Amino acid sequence: MDKKYVVAIDQGTTSSRCILFDRTGKICSESHREFRQIFPQAGWVEHDPMEIWSTQLGVILEAMGSIGARFDEVAAFGITNQRETTVIWDKKTGKPIYNAIVWQCRRTSGMIEKMKQEGWTEYVRNTTGLLPDAYFSASKIAWILDQVPGARMRAKHGELLFGTIDTWLIWNLTAGKVHVTDYTNASRTMLFDIHKLDWDPKILAYFDIPLCMLPEVRPSSFVYGYTAREVLGAEIPIAGAAGDQQAALFGQCCFRPGDVKNTYGTGCFMLMNTGVDPIKSQNGLLTTIAASTGERVEYALEGSVFVAGAAIQWLRDEMRMLKSTPQSEEYCTAVEDTNGVYLVPAFTGIGAPYWNQYARGMMVGLTRGASKEHFIRAAVESLAYQANDLLNAMKEESGLDIRSLRVDGGACANNFLMQFQSDISRLEIKRPEVIETTALGAGYLAGLATGFWKDKSEIYENWNCNREFVPMLSADDAKKRIKGWNRAVKAALYWAEESLEEECNEGEQ
Ligand code: ADP
Repeated sequence: MDKKYVVAIDQGTTSSRCILFDRTGKICSESHREFRQIFPQAGWVEHDPMEIWSTQLGVILEAMGSIGARFDEVAAFGITNQRETTVIWDKKTGKPIYNAIVWQCRRTSGMIEKMKQEGWTEYVRNTTGLLPDAYFSASKIAWILDQVPGARMRAKHGELLFGTIDTWLIWNLTAGKVHVTDYTNASRTMLFDIHKLDWDPKILAYFDIPLCMLPEVRPSSFVYGYTAREVLGAEIPIAGAAGDQQAALFGQCCFRPGDVKNTYGTGCFMLMNTGVDPIKSQNGLLTTIAASTGERVEYALEGSVFVAGAAIQWLRDEMRMLKSTPQSEEYCTAVEDTNGVYLVPAFTGIGAPYWNQYARGMMVGLTRGASKEHFIRAAVESLAYQANDLLNAMKEESGLDIRSLRVDGGACANNFLMQFQSDISRLEIKRPEVIETTALGAGYLAGLATGFWKDKSEIYENWNCNREFVPMLSADDAKKRIKGWNRAVKAALYWAEESLEEECNEGEQ
């Protein structure tokens, strides 16, 4: 029977989704369902793993049923997922012993502070490519093993299993036959040696996590197993898995070193393919494994902007300057420039390449002529300036020329923003027709492992551009504006210096 579809399972932080793609990479059907966010205390975030599983199963059936797709028409399942979120369950019963601890959850910050004070930062960075942080799975696993009575002992006896969400879904889809993860998800646990491609015994020992509870690690495009008949009534290969950002990089066809994608969402996530060489960052970018199909793994540099689209939401909700976020574009194009106004939306500090947790939002350059339009435009431009800072850091550290910038995420719909990004970064920007690049990446990985697509070049042909942006502003003008932005960031950092001093003085009194 000729296969018609790949099924992409896109398990995100707020919803479970499923998309069916055909051979041309076109979306044939989509279904999604939100699930509960559980906040047991300030700063803690959990999900119910059974709810993740049941909503995911529901949307698979719905996406297929709504177009009458049959299982014998499906070439493969591919999974992409919220990264780092941690589930531990009983191997026999399949029941989680605690809720999933979500990547955003800060409950283990103290554990990580202690680790840093004990001098582990360099080791963690050299081995895992990450900087010690409570985001990653390691300290979350340790927390569950510490807090659930008897859990550590049971884990040591091989009675418990750990998984990120990809692993949890594959285990359930195969009715408990397969306990596996892929390189990209493993690389976000802070337990995985990204050079040796194996779990790191020293970090495991530090957190007292037994090796026997960890999944096998396999490539991102690989037949991990088959859906169980008793679960779905059919045996379909599960043949792709990748963390959401890595799946998006693949879905954007950023296959060559120097290819970059940026997702403009609430925050920004930028990844650069660096090929078979891992690049160690000196200014706070992370080194991570990229989804690939070859024999050898490929690596990526990753950087993020904390406040991107969130700044536009802020204009809408707190400043009440906009009715909707897309409306920002009208205001931006109503004026020639920002009239010298800059906004640094460092609401929660400022990330790579500056890294200052004391920095706060800053608006500079105000004159009597500054208007609401200038204010809004400065906010939208701040997304581009922050992304540009990441691009420069990536360029500098990798020594690679950026070949292309491909964009996705909600705010990439803003044409003004895309044009401005191209103007100041002096890059061609390509916005794809299918902006569901995360799900598409998972679909591609699964389809490549099962021969639905022959090779990456066939997929590359599928990639259709919705719009391309090329620099229009003169290079001199771009330089001047960036200079202004740099001064504005300096002002925000200066503010931070004083608040750090104040904190120290208070501490001494
Ligand atoms: P996430 O996945 O992080 O929730 P999305 O990719 O759905 O985010 O993008 C939503 C974000 O994009 C919001 O923060 C919103 O302010 C911003 N956004 C959406 N459309 C526009 C637009 N046309 N112009 C500027 N920002 C926008």
